[in-house]
Parts: sequence; C-alpha cells; structure tokens
Amino acid sequence: MIFGQYSAGTRSLIALGVIGAVSAAAVLMLSPQATTSASDLPEQPNISLASLPIAQDLFGTARPTQSIEATLQRRETLSGLMDRLDVNRRDGALALSSLTEPGYLDARRVRSGLKVTAYMDGDALSAIAVEPEAGRRLLTKREADGRFYAAELKSKLISEPIVVKGSITTSLYEDARVLGAADQQVVDFAQVFAYDVDFQREVHPGDKFEMVFESLSDERGNIIRRGDVLYASLNGKAVDKGFYRFTTPDEGVTDYFQGNGESATRFLMKTPINGARLSSSFGRRRHPISGYSRLHKGTDFAAPSGTPIYAAGHGTVERASRYGGYGKYVRVRHANGYKTAYAHMSRYGPGVKSGRRIRQGDIVGYVGSTGASTGPHLHYEVYINGKPVNAMALKLPTGRKLANTPEIMTAFEARRDEIDLFREIENGGDLMITAANSPAP
Ligand SMILES: [Zn+2]
Repeated sequence: MIFGQYSAGTRSLIALGVIGAVSAAAVLMLSPQATTSASDLPEQPNISLASLPIAQDLFGTARPTQSIEATLQRRETLSGLMDRLDVNRRDGALALSSLTEPGYLDARRVRSGLKVTAYMDGDALSAIAVEPEAGRRLLTKREADGRFYAAELKSKLISEPIVVKGSITTSLYEDARVLGAADQQVVDFAQVFAYDVDFQREVHPGDKFEMVFESLSDERGNIIRRGDVLYASLNGKAVDKGFYRFTTPDEGVTDYFQGNGESATRFLMKTPINGARLSSSFGRRRHPISGYSRLHKGTDFAAPSGTPIYAAGHGTVERASRYGGYGKYVRVRHANGYKTAYAHMSRYGPGVKSGRRIRQGDIVGYVGSTGASTGPHLHYEVYINGKPVNAMALKLPTGRKLANTPEIMTAFEARRDEIDLFREIENGGDLMITAANSPAP
C-alpha cells in the first residue's frame, strides 16, 4: 500500500509552505511536535458531562444534588483542583485514585484545560466526571459501600465526511487548518500530490484546494477524530487535478485516482525530501569548491542536517557507502533503467545496505555535509540508462489505469460519484465550510 507506508513520524517534517511573490519567508514547517499535539481534538471541547444524559442515567434515582464544573489550571494538580472545589480531602483522594490506579487516568499527563465535574451530595462528594481526551469520558462514583468505582463512558460517534475548500493565502497547511483539517489530513493531501507537484516551489497563493475527509463526531457535533482523505483537489498554475481514494478490489491496494481512473502514484516521487530549499539546479555551473565550470549532475536541496531523505521509488540499494566527493552516498536501482542517488548524507537510513530492497518513501538517509560539500544539503541525482537527467523536469508515466479493467472501473466510478454527490450537497448546503478569504465565485 503506497500511501500507508509513511508513518506520521517520518512525514512530520513535510513542509507545505508557499513562497509567494510578496514574501519568501512564508515557508512553514510542520514541527514534529505539531503533528503529535492535540491536532485531532475538537477546537472547542466544551462538552459538559453534567449535561449529558448518559452521565445522568448512570446515577439512576440516586441523583446528586449539585454539580460543580471546573477547569484544570496551568501547574495545578488534580488534588489542587479538588481543594479549590472545596471537596473533602479524603473523598477527593479516594475518587482520584479510583481513576488513576486502574489506569483510566494518568495524573502526570493531565493537561491544563481539563474539565472536571464534581457531583456533590451536600458536603459529600458523590462522583467525579472528567474528559481526559475528546470523546473519552470517565466517571467515578461512590457506591453503597462508600468506595469509588470508575468507569469509562462510551458515547455514540457519528461518522460523516467533511468538505474543506478554499484558496491558499499563506500556505496550504495554515489555510486547511483554519478551515477544519488537522495535520494528518494536510500531510495526506500533500502526499496525494507528491508525484505531481513540489509544494514548496509550485504551489502559490490563490491556488484553490478542496479536501474531503472522514470524521467522527459525538452526539453534539464535536469532531472527535478526523480520518482518511477521500478526495483531494488542487487547482493552480502547476497542477489542476482531483483524486479520489479507492481500494482496488483485486489487489486490495488503497490509492488515489483521478476521475478517469488514473492513479496518482508514479514511479518516482517528484522530490525525495520535504521542507527543503532548492539551492542548485541540474545543469552547467561553476563548482563552488573546484571553481571549474562543469555539469551539475543533480539537484541540490538545502535542508537542516538530519532531515530525512526518502527513496524516490521502489528498488534495490546498489551502493550505501562513502563515495569520494559525494561523501556518504546511496544509489538505488529502479525498474526500466532508472537509478536515483543521494549524496552528502550525515548517516544512512535504518537497514539501508547494498543489495537490500527499498520501498518508495522509505528513509534512505539523513541530510548532512559529508564529502565535498559547503553545508548541509542533499545532492539528488536521477539516471536513465546511465545518463544523468534533470529530476525536476522528468515526465514520468502514471501508475495503474483502472479503465483497463472494466469491472474495477465501474466500482471506482460508483465510489467517485458517491463522493462527488456529497461534494455537491455540501457546496449547495449551509454545511459548507467556506474560506473567509476565498474569492467570490
Ligand atoms: Zn549537487
């Protein structure tokens, strides 16, 4: 599965910045922290357990007389919050340990902003409800034996697609985030287009984008989780395409296809690195070290040392060792006489050794400045039958064409039409999330 091979970790360095005519500083890197943060949490987790019927049902006839809601402050502990709510110390400690001891709640990992509801029966604490993460609700309540028993409340989640569309103002990342996508959806969206467009150099303000992704919402309409991108389109100078997610019934491969059934996946990725600046193009130039004018047989991408470099396509590692001025160097042999090479690396990717198979998107190594190099960068080469070619100008054949298999094409068309119908409904209804900054039609 082509799109499943990227773990969130390896893709977290993807940069979707757009260098506009106005500002070259608009390049935006997704930091690894950003992708592991609460990106999948709803923006306003104002779910009050006190008002949820499910919580009330749990109390049955023994309904508490009063509920107090509070939010955990910065640097406040849960027991501190109990004190603030005037909960009897012993009651508070018993209730909290009923949540932490069985592992429902990790007291060291609770964050400020956590909503806690204490249910009181006169002066006595009868229950505590917390929502440690969106969609996960915990309730501990005092039973007849005087002890507190905790339980996790399950809530009904509704799955429905969401449409996010607009024009790029600063970067796809920022604009899509503002409109309701999370980091993972933006990364997936970029991955769909990774074969067609170089996000850093070929996507500009004014380009239009649309994405449809699955979402899980609770009964109140709060988005709990955002899922797979079902549709991705980009309409700008460099590219004007839309892709539908589809799993082929014969091979069981999930991929993205244009409306005509052509796969988004190509033999080689457009660039084997994310978040890098193109510092030197393929062609004749004066060599920065030797001073001689000669053919620059590759493309240079300046990027911080340690930035991961991906195998542009499936293949076999032909060499993974120091190679003169190339420094730490990896060359991969692909099908049809193609080879790609990666030079000046600081270190090799895990398991990258001569003779090993490598898959598109696997880490071949990390940016460095080994060999004849003036600073950390990737020197990337593509060869066809031994002849160096300009990787940035390569016209590569597309991947699978579903139209070659009529039954599969029919199944794909049904799915495509389903997604299109949804897009139409969303475009016509009030549900559409409109970019405040998108130009009037
Ligand atoms: Zn170079």
